[in-house]
This record gives sequence, C-alpha cells and structure tokens, in this order.
Amino acid sequence: MQARRHPETVAEVKEAGATTALMRQYLDVKAQVPDAILFFRLGDFYEMFYEDAVLVAGLLSLTLTSRDKGKEDPVPMCGIPHHAARAYLQRLTELGHRVAICEQLEDPKLTKGIVKRGVVRIVTPGVILDEESLDARTPNYLVAIEGERSRGFGVAFLDVTTGDLRATVAASTESMLDELARIDPREVVFAKGDETLAPLLRRAYPRLTQTPVAAAAEPPESVLREILGDAIAGPRQALALAAAARVLTYARSTQLAAPLPVAKLEIFDRADHLVLDEQARAHLELTETMLERRREGSLLGAIDLTRSAIGARLLRRWLLFPLRAVAPIRRRQDAVERLVLRPSGRGAVRKVLGEIGDIERLASRARLGVATPRDLAALGRSLARLPALHEALGLVTEDLPVTEAKEDLLRLGEDRASELAKKLSETLIDEAPANTKEGGFIRSGLSPELDRLRQVAAGGRELVAEIETRERERTGIPSLKVKYNNVFGYYIEITRAKMGQVPADYQRKQTVANAERFVTSELSDLEGDISRAEEQRIALELRLFEALRTEVGAAAARLQAIAAQVAAIDGLAALAEVAHHHGYVRPVVDESVTIELEAARHPVIERLVGDGGFVPNDLKLDGDDAQLLLVTGPNMAGKSTVMRQTALAVILAQMGGFVPARSARIGLCDRVFTRVGAGDNLSRGESTFLVEMRETAHILRHATARSLVVLDEIGRGTSTYDGVSIAWAVAEHLHDKIGARTLFATHYHELCALADTHRRVRNVSVAAREWKGEIVFLRQLTPGGANRSFGVDVAKLAGLPPDVVARARGILATLEAGGADRGPQTVSPERGTSPQLGLWEATQATPAVASPSGDDGLSEIAEALRRVDPDDLSPRAAHELLVRLREKLTDPRARGPS
Ligand code: ADP
Ligand code: MG
Repeated sequence: MQARRHPETVAEVKEAGATTALMRQYLDVKAQVPDAILFFRLGDFYEMFYEDAVLVAGLLSLTLTSRDKGKEDPVPMCGIPHHAARAYLQRLTELGHRVAICEQLEDPKLTKGIVKRGVVRIVTPGVILDEESLDARTPNYLVAIEGERSRGFGVAFLDVTTGDLRATVAASTESMLDELARIDPREVVFAKGDETLAPLLRRAYPRLTQTPVAAAAEPPESVLREILGDAIAGPRQALALAAAARVLTYARSTQLAAPLPVAKLEIFDRADHLVLDEQARAHLELTETMLERRREGSLLGAIDLTRSAIGARLLRRWLLFPLRAVAPIRRRQDAVERLVLRPSGRGAVRKVLGEIGDIERLASRARLGVATPRDLAALGRSLARLPALHEALGLVTEDLPVTEAKEDLLRLGEDRASELAKKLSETLIDEAPANTKEGGFIRSGLSPELDRLRQVAAGGRELVAEIETRERERTGIPSLKVKYNNVFGYYIEITRAKMGQVPADYQRKQTVANAERFVTSELSDLEGDISRAEEQRIALELRLFEALRTEVGAAAARLQAIAAQVAAIDGLAALAEVAHHHGYVRPVVDESVTIELEAARHPVIERLVGDGGFVPNDLKLDGDDAQLLLVTGPNMAGKSTVMRQTALAVILAQMGGFVPARSARIGLCDRVFTRVGAGDNLSRGESTFLVEMRETAHILRHATARSLVVLDEIGRGTSTYDGVSIAWAVAEHLHDKIGARTLFATHYHELCALADTHRRVRNVSVAAREWKGEIVFLRQLTPGGANRSFGVDVAKLAGLPPDVVARARGILATLEAGGADRGPQTVSPERGTSPQLGLWEATQATPAVASPSGDDGLSEIAEALRRVDPDDLSPRAAHELLVRLREKLTDPRARGPS
C-alpha cells in the first residue's frame, strides 16, 4: 500500500476538502490571488500557509510550524507580527515577489463566528506604498510595454506613490530599451505570451521584475476614461494609450480597496527631449556612478541641492529629460537667474522649502487609503507653509515687471488648499501617531460626541478614585486599593491580614501571593461604562479620521498640482544655489550648431580635485567648421574629462541650468551619445570589444547633424590594425555622412592625419611636459595633435620598477628609431603603412636587443632622447635628430636572430 502523504499545497487541500471554516475562508481568498504570496491576517499576525509558508520561511529564515499539529493533516504555516510586516514586505518585493495583503474587514469583538476577510492590496516591486522602504528622492516606476518590433512600442510608466503617469512611443526595440534605461523601473508589465520581449528584457535588465499579464478585457479608451476622464495631454498615439491603459489596469488590480491616485496622463514625443540612451546615462554618470552605482559622485549628486523630496524627484526628471526647444529653456534660465541674483530671497525660499513634506506622496497615500494620522498631520503642516513660501517668493520677484514670462515660474498658483490645511490642523493633534489603534489623534473641541465620550471615560476614572476612598472608610482598611487589569477590569485588592474585614457584598475573583482580589457590582457597572465609552471613542476617532482621509484623497489631484509647483520652485532654487556657490554661468542657448565653452570645468571632478586644482579648458565645436575634434594626449592627461565636461555642459544647459564655465554657448542638441571608457559589460557575458562595437554601431545608426557624439578611445579592444582602421572609418563617417559635432579621443596618433584631408576635422591635444625626466600634466587643451604618448612615463608614475622603466625606454627608442626609415611619423592608412606595423617587426627583433652584451648604442640614444623636449623641436630639427640617432644605431636586424 502506498504511504499516505499529507496534502501540502492549496490544490491538494482543495481536493481533500478543507477541514475548518477558517481554512475554507483562507482557500477562497487564496484562489483570488493565486500568483501572490498571501499574508492572511489572524489577530495581530499575518499568517502564511501551505506552499506560501514553505517558500517564505525559506526566503526569510522564519520558523515553519504547522496548524492543527496533533491532527492527521498538519498544515505548513509561518507567521509574522503585523507591526513588523514592513521589513518582510520589503525583502520579498526586493526578491521580485508579489504579496497580497488580506485584512480582517470586521471588528472581531463585534462579530460572532468567523470575521470577514479580504485582500485589500497587492504589493509588488513596482507598486510599493510604504514610504519607509522607498527612497524619497527617487521615483518608483512601474512600466508597461505594448506592441512589438514591427509596429514600435508604447511605453507607459506610473509611480503609484505620486500619481505620475507618462507615456511615449518608441519606434525601435533599441529606443524602447533606451527609454527603459532612462525610466529605471522596478517592474515591467507586458502581454502574456510575448515570446520575444521576455528574453530581450532579461538580457538587457536582469534585475527588472517581469510581470506578463493577460490581455485586458476592456478596450484602452474606456479604461483611461474611467480613471482619468479627459485628462490626457499630448499626442494621442494608439500605442502610448494602450500602454497607459495596461499600466493602469495592472496598478488598479493591486489596489482593491481604493481608487488610484492618478489624475492625468502625459503623452510625450521622444523628440521633445534631449534623448539620453543607456550608454550616455551610464558613461556620463548622470544619476549614479558607473562602478559603485552611487548617487554621490554623479552629476545629480553634484547639483541636487533641493530641499524637499518632491523637488529632488523633479530635478532628477529634468536631468533625465532635458529640453529641446529654446523658449522653455530660456524660461527656466530666467527664473534661475533671478534666484541667483537674489541670494537672500533664495535663502528664504529654500528655508521654507525645507519645511515642506512630500505633499505628492502624502496625497497619494490618502487617496489609496493608507495614510496614517501622522501622514495627514504632516500634510497639514506642509500646506500651512505655503503662504510663507509665497511670501519668500515675493522677495525674489518683487521688482519684476508683472508682464514678464518668468514670473509664473516663481509664483505659486492661486490654489493653496488653505481650507484643507485649516481642516487638517483643526482635526488632528500636532504629534499625531502613525497607529490608529488607540485613537487619541483627534483634537478635542472638534466633535461634541467625542468630547462627551472622553469625559465619560475620564469621569469614570474619577469615580474609581472616589470608590476607593469610600470603600476604605466603609471597611476601615486603609491599605485597600482599586486596581485594573485586562482580565477582569477594575478590582479591589485587600491584603491577607485584613481578610476578616471584607464586606459580604465583595465577590472574590483571584488569590495572589499576599492578597485577595474582589469585584463589586458597582465596579463592574462602571467598568462596563468606561470600556464602552473607550470603544466608542476609538471607533468615532477612526470614523472622523477616515472621513478626513477620504476628503484629502478626493483632493489628491489638486494637491498634486500644488506639489508640482512647489517642486518646480525647489528645482529652480537648487540650480540657482549650485550656480551661485560653484561659479556657474548662464549659457546662451540657441538653434546654432556651435558649442563654445570658455574656461569650462567638470562639475564633479573639479570638486574632487579641490580648490584651484582643476584646470579649466576652452573648447569650440561647430558643425560647419570645427565639427570633429580629434583629442590626443598621454594617458591620464585629461582627455576623457574634457570631453565629458562638454557633454555635461550640454545636458545642464538643456535642463535649464547654468554650466561650470566662464562663458558658454550651446547650440541645441537632439541627442548626446557617448562611448566612454572601458564600459565592461561582463555581467551580461559579452566581450568588451563586442559591447564597444555594438555601442558604436548604435551611435552611427542614430546620430544626426544635431547630435553631440563623444567617442573615447574606440577600437581599443582589438589588434592595432583593426583598431586604427575602425577608428579611422568611424571618424570619417561621422565627418562625411552624419555631420554630428564629435569629440573623438584616440591613442592612435595616425588619426591626426585626418585633419589634412577632412575639412572639418581639427586636432587638439591635452598637453603634458617632460620635466627632469618626469611627466607633468598641464591639463590644457591646445591646438595640434600630440606627438608622443608618454606611456612609459605614465608607467613610471604608476610605480613600475626603475629597471623595467629604463628597459622600456630603451626599447621604445629602438622602436621609434626603427620606424623612422618608414618616413613621416604620421602615416595614413590610405598610404598603406603605419608606425604600428613597425611596432610588430621591431618587437620580433627585441631578443637580440635583449642580449646582455649588446647595447647597440641604445643607452646613448635613450640618453639623447631624454634630453630633448619634443615640444621645442621644429620639424626640421626633429628630422635631423632622427638622422643622427639612427647613425648611432647598430641595426639589430642586420645580425638576424641569434
Ligand atoms: P585621460 O582620459 O586622458 O586618460 P582623464 O580625463 O581620465 O585622462 O583624467 C585623469 C585624471 O586627471 C582625472 O581623474 C582627474 O583627476 C585629473 N584631471 C583631468 N582633467 C583635469 C583638469 N582639467 N584639471 C585637473 N585635473 C584633471
Ligand atoms: Mg580616458
């Protein structure tokens, strides 16, 4: 006979037939949320059963127990105290799980039999409402994708905690993935059964939670109408609408007890913003550093001087979605400039901003029915500061002509929700608790009924004191005490010694160590009155609070609009604060194809280097003239830095901010492309070179004459021949075919020859000098290509042992001398030769050089080389030097390999 196994899964139990009414209720609820872990509220605990219990006990190291232990079919079970649920929820969602929260929907005290229970919300990685597990300064986006490669993709993203809902259409898979990089969502929703999207997303964003959902029953239009009414801004593209409907449908399915706090949909055209793809975002370290993924050290970290969470989130959005039209950029600049010019007004504004809480998230929490008394009190205090903010703004704008367009940016709108602020402060006490269980958060004087109940309870307590005095007199026992416990309420305690004096009407309840406890009918009645009054008081407070919360929730859209204005003021004030403190300048932004920076700095590195340590640089790019700058110079000279600071200046300018420079002119860019540094994508299992080529291909496919392209040492990950050839062809293509403004750093000096044959190519180099045998970085960008790479000097700086350095210098001298008979130092591939070829041949010859006896005149040559400063040599003098050096050389090849 087969051994009998206990049913362990929900399905098995269903088959076997649930035993108790409670478990039947559990199974019914669980059937509604089969894809989620069910937190089933039992008293003060959330319990999990069956496979949920096994899974969660394993994930969170909880003790797995069982229900009905003694019985034949023990049910696996584990539980967590409800007040500690937050931490467990956070862990589970971080691991990508969905959790359904099932609450008791009735008061157990007032119910006979089983309390009604139901799921009130589902917590998923993209839909977390708990502000404490969220970073206040970062949005928490849920994204939905609609469509496929051939039609393009609708991409809609929603932050349920703030009500921010936007959508766009991405024409290609690549641009859809780029948009995801910019949004940086926690969870993505797409059509169940889409075979191509899932692996694509997994490869591109392995940490993103994927949620395939079945096709919606309702058409997109009716979903949108139901939730948003008519509040849709922007071009009504079908794919964007469908994606928005999908994200809303999914979000709504997680909020079973409350309406979504979403008031409007904004559809934007990707072309309305400066497009920043994944590489640009990562390589330029816009919001986090590349290696450690930290905010500190990023551009955002350097400029985020906002005082409020709403301001911080908006500034981040400005940074990731810079503008693309002159007029709105100038408008932001006008406001920033004003704030720069009025430091004391700005100070006052920022002080008030620091006192304003997260109006946006608090309003959303109210609408979702999760705001606590503490939340609403904070909201009330924040709203109460709006008049002060308005006043502080007056200091900034007082002498501005009313007609100026800039004024509307610096003034709060008419709506301050002042009646709501008043109501909140009149209803809730200042230090309202986060917990509603005990009441005590509604102000007295608000509700006569509440005040009466409070008096009954208080009066009851007074009566208790009276009874104590009276009973002491009646019994003649001065040590008689009236006390309270949870088991039988008020009681009289009398010490054992006085037991003879106990009156007959006392009913004995309990014996303790040295005393007896009694109750009287008078005490019991009073007890009943008091606890009924307490219960009624708590229930009434809760009702009043919930009504208030509903009222605030109904005003969510208004509050979001106010929050948006406050956020904008905070964002502008932060840009002004940075500009003021770090000496940024207002850039001239226009429709030209010129980027001209005078004394520009890198916003992050200048602060790392410290006061005066950073060397500013001038740079001019012009689509009609100096379109492609070929940047050469030794390793560590500052090539990458000067290129990145140019890209960052463009982004700062187009977000409406000032830039770190003495003067700046920025002709609008449509995209900023970068291929910077060793963007190792080893985590995705791709070779660096493949990644590099993929990114370069992406740039060449999408760059336009309006783009800024920053290419940093492409072609490094392969052989020299390949590398030069690829770099050469890419540079040519950018010059001849695309016409994008390009900064092109390369260690292939051969490329300098491009300037001879290509009209808009300019050579620039970051200078370094040799001084007493050491390399000195000047950090100065100068016209002309670098004439040598200083690689050995950098190696020395890096601490290579002196004899290795000396030996390297020796070999280098041989190689350079060996290459000399090939003609000029700079040779174009078109002419079919390259000094790098000489590298190979001469390396083969090195064994002979290496023989301890033969010096072949090398040390002498090296010494001579060390004494000259190449920067001081005219071409003619250099040629003569070469000839002389060559004469000193015994040609190693003449002897052949030993
Ligand atoms: P490269 O790309 O030429 O190898 P980087 O741009 O990476 O060099 O610069 C190397 C380091 O030099 C930077 O990390 C920074 O510390 C310093 N540096 C670069 N540019 C400057 C500058 N203009 N002024 C001061 N220090 C600089
Ligand atoms: Mg570099």
